[in-house]
Order: sequence, then structure tokens, then C-alpha cells
Amino acid sequence: MFRINENYLQLNESYLFSAIARREEKFSALHPEANIIRLGIGDVTLPLPPSVIKAMHKAVDEMAEKETFRGYGPDQGYGFLREKIAEIDFRQRGTDISPDEIFVGDGSKSDTGNITDILGEDNIIAITDPVYPVYLDSNVMRLGNSSKIMLLSCGEKNGFLPEMPSQRPDVIYLCYPNNPTGTVMNRTQLKQWVDYALENKSLILFDAAYEAFIRDREIPRSIYEIEGAKKCAIEFRSFSKNAGFTGVRCSYTVAPKALAARTAAGGEVLLNSLWNRRQSTKFNGAPYIVQRAAEAVYSPEGQQEVGEMVAYYMRNAEMIREGLTQKQWTFFGGENSPYIWLKCPGGMDSWTFFDRLLEERHIVGTPGVGFGSKGEGYFRLTAFNSHDKTAEAVKRIKGWEL
Ligand code: PLP
Repeated sequence: MFRINENYLQLNESYLFSAIARREEKFSALHPEANIIRLGIGDVTLPLPPSVIKAMHKAVDEMAEKETFRGYGPDQGYGFLREKIAEIDFRQRGTDISPDEIFVGDGSKSDTGNITDILGEDNIIAITDPVYPVYLDSNVMRLGNSSKIMLLSCGEKNGFLPEMPSQRPDVIYLCYPNNPTGTVMNRTQLKQWVDYALENKSLILFDAAYEAFIRDREIPRSIYEIEGAKKCAIEFRSFSKNAGFTGVRCSYTVAPKALAARTAAGGEVLLNSLWNRRQSTKFNGAPYIVQRAAEAVYSPEGQQEVGEMVAYYMRNAEMIREGLTQKQWTFFGGENSPYIWLKCPGGMDSWTFFDRLLEERHIVGTPGVGFGSKGEGYFRLTAFNSHDKTAEAVKRIKGWEL
């Protein structure tokens, strides 16, 4: 009999969003008249910007002509997009990243999940708690529920930032602005992690999927703004949230050429080459049409349009923050992030608060405990709905006798 990868059986079975959907469906069946507002799932709601749509149409037309048709593209992404990314996301912001350090992908979920392919199985992996579940699950898939996975607890007393680990990890996942807590790391805090990684020869996997939501100029938008980070960090970026690409699928990963690892035999190997090898073996590149769409994000009109989209969502975050402030509830995030991390009032646990918010206010959010045990007692609200629905949800919460 063939064998399966039994580590899969150790994964947390009930996926958070299906558990939420089940409860919502049950409630809707009993109360079909209820006008439910969803401030739960982190999907965007605004349509793609006009310049992106225009670029996609043009690319589709190119595919219809013999002279301009494209088949297999470069596995790492087309030069036209890698150059724009290097220039606009990095060089113009004072960081020197070259196009061949950029790998265009089909989503940060894939890349943050697949990066484990190039890492040895002996590594001690540090993951924050609460956390975006992909980092944890992708490691459980290869290691099982192993003692090599070390959870860095992030609690309220530390502003939901992890404390420096007591035992040295080889690999550290960091995500700022953070999903789910909406918290950010300032330059000094991020520098501490970069210095720690350099000193301990650890690798930082830095997920910057929400960098576009940073308003505060003092908050680094890329880990490479910190000196030395090119020697210790891989960064993941996505077009999903800033440009509405959740259904189109495009992202990129930065693997700097200065980032080297030691082999067991004492040799040196570049992570850039390893990731290149992994991608060219298992990934055919993001579609041409999609990469032209992503390129349009960097045009002057595209930059203007995505800026407006982000501002739209951040206005929602502001509305939620204002409402919760008036309610005198404790919360984090929402200033440089589309996520607001709320402390469940009255010491309620996450699922009790979920049920009461749904039943009494007809609002769906995400129970914090779904992101890890340290999320218990907290709740995530997102800024990705419309102004009208967000305003209505805030009104319902403000008028809640709780
Ligand atoms: N990283 C974080 C922290 C996320 O919250 C998400 C999506 O919600 C992703 C990555 C995945 O992004 P993508 O749509 O690029 O796969």
C-alpha cells in the first residue's frame, strides 16, 4: 500500500473560514431577513483599477496575434515587470534591489508556503502566535507537529510584537504590517531582528503583503531599509491587497544575492540561486496577461489609482477605529494596516464574541483564536468592505448595549 505524508493529518482540521461560513449559514437560515455585514475575511471588494484593466485588454489582444503571442514565459517573471519593481518599489525609495533578485509569482500564499522547499529539515523555525496560518501549516506539512517549530507569543503587554526568542531559531517568520493584529514594527524594532538574525546566522522570512497600507513615514515598508537585511532576509510582496489582485494573482519575492547559507560540508550557497532553481523546476511563471496587469500598477495613473484604493480602505479602518474609541473598547492596528485587532469586551472568548456579534448585531468578524492560541480573547475586523457597510456596522456596534 502506498503511504501518504502523514504530517497532513496533524494539521488543524477545521479551517477557520469554513467554520465561520458554517456559523453564518446556520444563522442566515434561521434569520433570512438579517442584513449581515462581513468584516471578517481579508478579501478586497473594490474592482481592479482602470489602468490595470486597460493593460489586461491590450495583453489579451496581443495573445490573439501571431507576431505578439506569448507562450511559456521566463519562470522568474518578465524583465519588464522585474525592472519596474526594482526601480519603483526599491531604488526610488533608496534601496538597491536589482531585477534579478526579484521573482514574480502567483501570490504570496504560494511563495510563503513554498519557501520551505529550499530550507533544511533540521532548522528550528520561529513563528509568531497569533499568525497568518500559512507559515505554520506549511511547516507542519513537512515536519509534523515538531519541536522544531517554536512559537513566539505576541501579547498585549508587548503591543502584540514578539519578544526576542530565548533559544536561537534558524528561521524567523515576520509579517509587518501584521495579519491578524494590524500592528507594525518601527525601524528600531525591525533593526533589532535584523541584528539578531545577522548575529545568530538566522534567516528572516519577511512578509510585507500589507506594506502599501503604511501611512507613517517612520515605519519601514521593506526590511531592506534596514542595514544588513540583504544578508539575512527574504521578502514577500503581493499585488493582492494594494491593487485588488486577489482574483488575478500576482506577487513577488525578493531573494538578495548577498544572502548566503552554509552547506553541511562548509561550502557557501546563495539563496537566490536555490529559489531560482526551485521556481524553474516547479513553477512556470505568472501569466503574461497578469504580469502586464501588474506592470500597469507602476504607471503614473496606476500609482494614483492604487493609492486611492488603499486610501478608501484606510478610511474604513479610521471609521472602525473612531467607533471603537467611542465605545471605549481596547483595540490595536488600523492605523498602518487594514486590520483592527479588538480585545473582546468583558473578557469574552473569541467565539462567544463572534456568536454574539453575529446574533445581536448581524456582523461577521474573525475570532482571534483562529490565528493561534494567543489570539484567544481577541477579534479581527477588516477594512475591506464598502464605506456604507462599514459605517452601518460601526453604527450597530456603537448602539450595542454590551
Ligand atoms: N501574507 C499575508 C500576511 C496575508 O494576509 C495574505 C492574504 O491574506 C497573503 C500573504 C496572501 O496573499 P496572496 O493573495 O498574494 O497569496
